[in-house]
Amino acid sequence: MVDAQHYAAVVKASHDASASVQGGVNASYIPYLASVPANLTGLTLVLSDGQVFSEGDSDYRFAIESISKVATLALALEQHGPAEVRKKIGADPTGMPFNSVTALELHDDRPQSPLVNAGAMATVSLIQADNAEDRWARILGMQSRLVGHPVELSDEVNHSEQSTNFHNRAIAWLLYSAGTLYSDPMETCDVYTRQCSTLISCKDLAVFGATLASGGINPLNSERVLQSTNVPHILAEMSMEGLYDTSGDWAYTVGLPGKSGVGGGVMAVMPGRGAIAGFSPPLDPIGNSVRGQQMVAAVARALGWNLYRVSED
Ligand code: GLU
Repeated sequence: MVDAQHYAAVVKASHDASASVQGGVNASYIPYLASVPANLTGLTLVLSDGQVFSEGDSDYRFAIESISKVATLALALEQHGPAEVRKKIGADPTGMPFNSVTALELHDDRPQSPLVNAGAMATVSLIQADNAEDRWARILGMQSRLVGHPVELSDEVNHSEQSTNFHNRAIAWLLYSAGTLYSDPMETCDVYTRQCSTLISCKDLAVFGATLASGGINPLNSERVLQSTNVPHILAEMSMEGLYDTSGDWAYTVGLPGKSGVGGGVMAVMPGRGAIAGFSPPLDPIGNSVRGQQMVAAVARALGWNLYRVSED
């Protein structure tokens, strides 16, 4: 039986070991992200029984970015079921950067994964809603239920993204021309950009992950957010593409489904046990937070959390 003091000590040691590590640079293609202080470093562990252990800047609210793709995937699965999502989007890694056009060209314009930009926009376009505003409200509602409180859009982040998202707009049109986008392309890109521009904390991110770890029940407020049968599909998608094109390295070294975003957040999920979230803005060349990955991996290692590990105790 591991006690609370041990969990707290693991989180503190993992945070402290990485807090002053240099390396990586903030994302700059979205101007807002370049302006976030690079020294911020937060780490949170949330267990399936609702215990929370945090260190550092774990309450600082940062842009959710790509991690929003997991929430929208969850909503699409709730609305359409796994077979339809797999047929329309896919469940395979692209092996290419998250905003790759080449990946589309190579796969008959099928996005392959809901966790790359093309697949994420296709997922947004699948969400059943009366109109674009309703679609946005449903997506924001899912983000809010996953973290357990209302999540807010940052006008500043949204403005910064909307005024520079030309590449994503091009991807939306490419999908539309191929018949693999299911609502108006520019409305879809707008809602996708908004979903990336909400603010969450490291603690929120760990609760989000722990909701997945608990089969779709938010461990802090006990709300059932997702059908438990949808959760394995979400975790499988995260295993395949959650850390962009180093998802395989992450599986090899950490062994947990994870998701990162260019805002500096990283989360990893241990089904049945809980989730770990790290936040720190400087990214490696692939787009994953340098310190975030280190801290999350250190906690997972210390707790023996690895999906592929056979426990001998
Ligand atoms: N809003 C960002 C984009 O679409 C998210 C990218 C990411 O975090 O991977 O480029």
